[in-house]
Amino acid sequence: METRPPFALLLDVDGPIASPVTRAVRPEIITLLLELGASGIPVVFNTGRSDAFIAQQVMEPMIAAGMPDGLRIHAICEKGATWFTFTGAGAGPVHVDRELAVPGEFSDAIRALVSSEYADHMFFDETKRAMVSVEQHIEVSNDVYRGLQEDFDAEAMSVMTRLGLGAVRLDHHVPGQDDTVDYRIDPTIISTDIESVRLGKDLGASRACELLRHDGIVPQAWFTMGDSRTDYAMADWLHHNDHEVSHVDVRPEDGVPEKPYEILTAGYLGLGPEVIHDDAGLAFLREWRKASLAPR
Ligand SMILES: [Mg+2]
Repeated sequence: METRPPFALLLDVDGPIASPVTRAVRPEIITLLLELGASGIPVVFNTGRSDAFIAQQVMEPMIAAGMPDGLRIHAICEKGATWFTFTGAGAGPVHVDRELAVPGEFSDAIRALVSSEYADHMFFDETKRAMVSVEQHIEVSNDVYRGLQEDFDAEAMSVMTRLGLGAVRLDHHVPGQDDTVDYRIDPTIISTDIESVRLGKDLGASRACELLRHDGIVPQAWFTMGDSRTDYAMADWLHHNDHEVSHVDVRPEDGVPEKPYEILTAGYLGLGPEVIHDDAGLAFLREWRKASLAPR
């Protein structure tokens, strides 16, 4: 039988759910996620993080707080390249779309580059299965990191060229041997992600719909939430595929783009522009929890 909940949540993790400073999820957010899930609101994570990060920072605290029987949470990781489902009993198998992985020789070269030149400020994320991510150490200041990140990104681009791989960083395209640009170097505020150009939050959104459909769930509408420009791709995909969607931007300091769907920021809840990241995420989760309690 098909169920049609009034809305579903598709959530970026770093920023709106996990603090970009501590990288942990505060207990009240865990409680709200559980209450929303238990009330029949589908909660799906759509993150660039690895399955291991989501298992540790989100799944384990949710299980520890007590996941009700029958609640299934889907986590789409590495921007759509990997995904898994968890219940109170733990994580199911991790699915990996191998075609979307960066070549092993490239990851090996980047791992070596980080350990020889950048190890004091960054680390190579060994938990990624398809992407290469190099992240700022928590104890390093973000300003210092952001300066070095540009050098690192330029070196990563040269490694791509040396291996005959085509890559793009922001607007700078360097085609590979066969004139293609198959990879993207994506600087975020705390990491650089290197990935197939086919990965993205839009791919994650399409997988989210597929996973829910498989559970017999067809939401009447969606809320997507993120802290980066690239997170709008979730709402773009849903809108283009005829789903009703509103996007919550928890860090609108880069400006709010013109889109054919509703965009919400903390101001919508009557909060000031200083309410960002997981403070804004928490406020919206409270709002959705209230909506989930309203009589239908
Ligand atoms: Mg984020």
